[in-house]
Amino acid sequence: MYAFNYQRPDSVAAAGSALGGSDDGKFLAGGMTLLPTMKQRLASPSDLIDLSGIGDLVGIDDNGDGVVIRAMTTHAAVASSSLVQAKIPALAALAEGIGDPAVRNRGTIGGSVANNDPAADYPAACLGLGATIVTNQREISADDFFTGLFETALGEDELITAIRFPSATKAAYQKFDNPASRYAIVGVFVAQTAGGARVAVTGASQDGVFRAGEMEQALSGNWSSDAVANIAVPADGLNADIHASAAYRAHLVTTMAKRAVAAAG
Ligand SMILES: Cc1cc2nc3c(=O)[nH]c(=O)nc-3n(C[C@H](O)[C@H](O)[C@H](O)COP(=O)(O)OP(=O)(O)OC[C@H]3O[C@@H](n4cnc5c(N)ncnc54)[C@H](O)[C@@H]3O)c2cc1C
Repeated sequence: MYAFNYQRPDSVAAAGSALGGSDDGKFLAGGMTLLPTMKQRLASPSDLIDLSGIGDLVGIDDNGDGVVIRAMTTHAAVASSSLVQAKIPALAALAEGIGDPAVRNRGTIGGSVANNDPAADYPAACLGLGATIVTNQREISADDFFTGLFETALGEDELITAIRFPSATKAAYQKFDNPASRYAIVGVFVAQTAGGARVAVTGASQDGVFRAGEMEQALSGNWSSDAVANIAVPADGLNADIHASAAYRAHLVTTMAKRAVAAAG
């Protein structure tokens, strides 16, 4: 790890100016992704702006239509939240399936969404439910937020403060995970929302999380596993690695979508 300056501001405004005042600073949330990359010398920020001193960034609120989860809320807190379990049980179940207890008790929703790993789970929930990412500068719809592999619409010194999830009539997430890390080899989040059916796929594409339009159309007409059973996403552009070929991932997308629709009831 290279040397860096460490700061621990106690407000969102102070965190924004600390990052703005640094040469090449980075926000530190749970550190579950950033610290390992620094240890491997794949990242060497001039400053680490630790967000753990900002109380306003922790917590889960009921906003009538759904829930608002503040950025520094851990995966474990989302998984065990009675509010999330009541309003969007599929989201609590998804959080319960992230990594292992150590990762769930340190890793945060803001860090996961800002990092946008192509095999991460939360991006599928954000896109699957049509969430809104709230930052210290604006609000961004999930459809506009995830822009590619480890890429998002976030500006240089933009800080995610919360994510607003609308409830869905029906929703579920199914993933075929990597047995060691539990990252999604393929994960599919389905939801029946006020705006129609939404199907979001993570782990599969070289460009990160995406919506499966043909499946959404089929489910909008007929919410059943059969409706998606014969719909295949093209293998072109899907990941191929030691865990699974592109063709196998394409097969898994349909299988996980069928299971998720069945699980959603
Ligand atoms: C062994 C292991 C297994 C894992 N398994 C899974 C899994 O199954 N599924 C899964 O989805 N993930 C998995 N993860 C990743 C985990 O969820 C991390 O918690 C997550 O990727 C990053 O969150 P963090 O809070 O640790 O962020 P950090 O590591 O602190 O930060 C990640 C990046 O986001 C930026 N950032 C952090 N917070 C903000 C913010 N509020 N606004 C703007 N930028 C911000 C940081 O600057 C950094 O670039 C795993 C990680 C490990 C180590």
